[in-house]
Amino acid sequence: MARSGQHFLQIPGPSPVPERVRQAMDRQVIDHRGPEFGLLGREVLAGCRSIFKTSRPVVIYPSSGTGAWEAAIVNTLSPGDRVLMVETGQFATLWRQMAGRLGLEVEFIPGDWRRGAPPDAIEARLAEDRTHAIKAVMVVHNETSTGALSSVPAIRRAIDAVGHPALFMVDTISSLGSAEYRHDEWQVDVTIACSQKGLMLPPGLGFNAMSDKALAASRTNRMPRSYWDWAEMLKPNASGFFPYTPATTLLYGLREAIAILHEEGLDAVFARHHRLAAATRAAVRVWGLEVLCLEEAEYSPVLTAILMPSGHDADNLRKVVLETCDMSLGAGLGKLAGTVFRIGHLGACNSLVLAAALSGVEMGFSRAGVPHREGGVAAALAVLEGRGGGEVQTQAGRGRAA
Ligand code: PLP
Repeated sequence: MARSGQHFLQIPGPSPVPERVRQAMDRQVIDHRGPEFGLLGREVLAGCRSIFKTSRPVVIYPSSGTGAWEAAIVNTLSPGDRVLMVETGQFATLWRQMAGRLGLEVEFIPGDWRRGAPPDAIEARLAEDRTHAIKAVMVVHNETSTGALSSVPAIRRAIDAVGHPALFMVDTISSLGSAEYRHDEWQVDVTIACSQKGLMLPPGLGFNAMSDKALAASRTNRMPRSYWDWAEMLKPNASGFFPYTPATTLLYGLREAIAILHEEGLDAVFARHHRLAAATRAAVRVWGLEVLCLEEAEYSPVLTAILMPSGHDADNLRKVVLETCDMSLGAGLGKLAGTVFRIGHLGACNSLVLAAALSGVEMGFSRAGVPHREGGVAAALAVLEGRGGGEVQTQAGRGRAA
């Protein structure tokens, strides 16, 4: 079908790549063992520390986020180790599956896929574990399948409250660069991330940030590994190089993306995401639909998952929106397939892009015959203008948008 103008990529990652980042990558490949690469390597490795907020090493793999999950496990744990995970949604479920395949004994705190990881349940389970059989607590910071953000500091406090020595691993795959995150201050042992979401890059880079405790664990753990081995990576990283061919082109993009994030300022970036999320929720309320996440304090700044009215198929809505507005919305994943759609408002997203995206959703509702109240976009505009905190303000918004 012929299209004019731009495609709207409003899935919760990969997120659109800014022009500056694309241009930074539009260059000839260089010798990854030459001096020019060493400079780039040192710059991006230092730059990553400023984004993860750590003074310790960050390693960069040519991988997707799933690879970075595996790297975190194989570098710190041993076959048969018991780990505690929380069923926040589809990604927590997939990480659990991987942990099982790698020979870990997983205890999975059940969840309803509508909220973040509960610190009290984690604390209660760790308190029972007097022999310290549990070797790691592993949580997803921003559960991309549900739009619920877990409180990493609260989980850290829960672990500390019972003096448990388990490693603390956090998947920030869809939160890093979009939601506040502090690897050192929050005493996370392994932070897992990737390139295609808050970092505004194409897919292809996976990251592990580590603590001294995680590094110490990596010296004695017994999980076989080669490609993912931190020690192999850290040796050449010290001078900016990699043990095998790195994703050179993406690293140029990463350098530019880090510069963009610092030019705006990380706090301003996070505030922008909160504003976009609040505007989205204001639209949802006016439409008369339900945000999937049930806990206000856990609303994701990265994406909003929205429940369809019963009897209406989310995938049909997404199809209609793609065909008529050239916009991609996120599908419901796993057990949420068909009942939920997701709007990504992460990375380089700004007020006008979000306003357009919400307009596409509102038009899509009409075209797909989804019952809703009009005026959602107008309510969102009011929030984006700073005329409200995101609560229902239908009338004011409608007046402005008309
Ligand atoms: N964890 C979370 C929270 C995610 O959102 C994703 C992907 O969207 C993954 C893990 C898996 O990452 P990837 O698809 O890059 O392997």
